[in-house]
This record gives sequence, C-alpha cells and structure tokens, in this order.
Amino acid sequence: MASRPIGTLVYLDEPEKLETQEYEVPEPEPSALITEVVRANVCGSELHIWRGHHPQVKEGVLGHEVLCRISELGEDIETDYAGQPIEEGDLIAPVYYITCQQCHSCQEGQFHLCQNAYRYWSKPPEEAPHFHGTFSTHYYVHPDQYFYKVPAGLDPGIAAGANCALSQVMFGLDETGVEYDDTVVIQGAGGLGLNAIAYANEQGAKTIAVEGVDGRIERAYEFGVDHVVDFREYDTVDARSERIKELTDGIGADVAVEVAGVPAAFAEGIHLLRDGGRYLEMGNVSPGHTTEFDPGALTRKSIDITSVVRYNPWYLNRALEFLAENSDTYPYADLIDAEFALTDVEEALHKSDTRAVTRATLIPEHEH
Ligand SMILES: [Zn+2]
Ligand SMILES: [Zn+2]
Repeated sequence: MASRPIGTLVYLDEPEKLETQEYEVPEPEPSALITEVVRANVCGSELHIWRGHHPQVKEGVLGHEVLCRISELGEDIETDYAGQPIEEGDLIAPVYYITCQQCHSCQEGQFHLCQNAYRYWSKPPEEAPHFHGTFSTHYYVHPDQYFYKVPAGLDPGIAAGANCALSQVMFGLDETGVEYDDTVVIQGAGGLGLNAIAYANEQGAKTIAVEGVDGRIERAYEFGVDHVVDFREYDTVDARSERIKELTDGIGADVAVEVAGVPAAFAEGIHLLRDGGRYLEMGNVSPGHTTEFDPGALTRKSIDITSVVRYNPWYLNRALEFLAENSDTYPYADLIDAEFALTDVEEALHKSDTRAVTRATLIPEHEH
C-alpha cells in the first residue's frame, strides 16, 4: 500500500494559544475531496475565535476562506456542484459549511440556515479526518459540502475571498431586492461594504457609503461609490439622514445595508430610508449587544427588514463568476495586502488584529 502524505494543520488549543500538528492525510470518502490549500485568508471571524470572543467556538482547527487544489477525488465525484467536470489538479473554492439536505431548514429550502451547517467546523484536530480548517496544508471537503471550480483566468488571490464576504453580500442584496436605479446606502466600507458597493453598482443602482475612516473612504471611491457621507462631518443621525435626503431628491434611500457591525448602525438605518424602503441587516453577528431602537418610526415608514447569515451555497458559484467578469473593473487585487507562510500564522493574526494589514493570506508550502 502506498504511503499517505503527511499534512500540517494549525489549531486553537485555548484562546490565543495556537498549536501546530502533523497528521497523515486520510483517503477521501466516495463523495469527498482531499485538497491542498493554495491560499487561506484570515477573516474577521477567525480573529474573533482566536481572541476567545466567539459565543460557541473556543478551540479547533482554524480557517474557512480558502482556495484549494484538488489532490484526490472521492470515487463518486466527477463534477463540481454546478455540473462542471473536475479532475485532480483543478483549483476549487468550497462553501465553508455543510448543507445536510435533511434538517428542517433544508426541508424549507433555506439551505443557508442548515441546522448542521457547522457539523465539521472547528473540530478538534485529533478527530478524523483532521483537516477541518484551512489554516493547514490540506483541507478535507466533506460530502454535502458544495464546491466550485474556479473560472479559468481568475487570479487565485482574488478567488480566495469569494466563499465569505462576496457570496454573503450577493445573497443578502438579492434577498432584499435591489432594482435598477435604486439608491443603496451602505453603512460601513469594510470588506462587506466594498463588495456591496460593487454588486449594487453592477445592478445599476446608485450607491452612498456612510463611513468615517480616510483609507476606507478612498477604497469606497475606488470601488465606484457615487457619494460618501463622512460621519466625522455629519456627526449625528439627523445630519446623516438629512444629507442622504439631499442626495435622493428629498426622499431617502430605497435600500440600506448595515455592514458596520455596530448595533447603533442598525437603529440608524431606518432613518436613512424612504417610506417603504428595504433594509438589510448583515453586519451585526454577535448576539448580546443591544441598542436603542425606535419601532414607531419603523412602522410609520413601513420598512421591510431582511437579515441574513451565510448564503445559499450556489451563491459561491455566482460570486466566482462575478469576480471573473469584474475583477478588472474593481481593484479586488489590492485588497489582499499581506502574504504569510503557514508557520507565520501567529504574526498574520496579530497584524490582522491590530489592522497593520487589511487582509492577510496564508500560503502553505507543499512538497511534490
Ligand atoms: Zn470569512
Ligand atoms: Zn440541513
């Protein structure tokens, strides 16, 4: 019997304590894949878990934003989840959670809410098949875990982020319903916000970002935002709401998207919208942080609120196609500004946490 390759993975033993461990890479189940990690990004949620701030996850193998190369195909796999033929050596992007197709959410067709989504997420490293996260040389793509071939010509550095922020934003905005000529307010021009600007732009919407950090304002303009309301200048909710009215013929925005991740931003959003406007809540993801809210204003304005977590898995394929079509239009390549070896994961997390870098990528070395 041929010997199995040995892989290295990084796991969290307890908050802020990382360990590295080697394991034999297992053989894939018939509907699974063995992949080599080509690039793994450090996302905000990893920082959250690493610091011990995540409500459930306190340990386990880290990483979920990834681009990988198929090294072994399970015997039943011939195509990706869009029916495109695949073979060993192909670059793929996997959805980072499971769609079990059997729980009550999946039965309702709400695949993004699968009750078993995190069945294999952040598992302890000793549990087979070990390679549960992407801060690793190898990554195990499970049965029921959607994955898609990366379009030819798409820069791997750009593709590596598709399975988190962009897929999430495209799904959220589609659920909210952005129409041609709508005005969309984006509260916060971080990673989610820039993707929201780009996607709303491509839908033919006008975009207004609410932001107050110079570097982020600059980026928002590079991503084609039409106007920025700088909250250092417009420093109250009333001032920002008035400014947005000025920019929308005195009416208010058709759509607003909360991607600031601040509870007060959610309360503010309804004041930026027109009567009958649509609101997408996506940035606040940690329960237990509260804010004052004016439900009477909500009713009077008859605002529709949509909130989403994760995305329907086929959105990842749309996100990859969006990037393949638009990566020359928007400076996606500039967003990844720091590459680290897997052995420097500690440094990558620290620099991401202190915002010394915007988006860090881990690039593991492979022996061939
Ligand atoms: Zn992420
Ligand atoms: Zn399910």
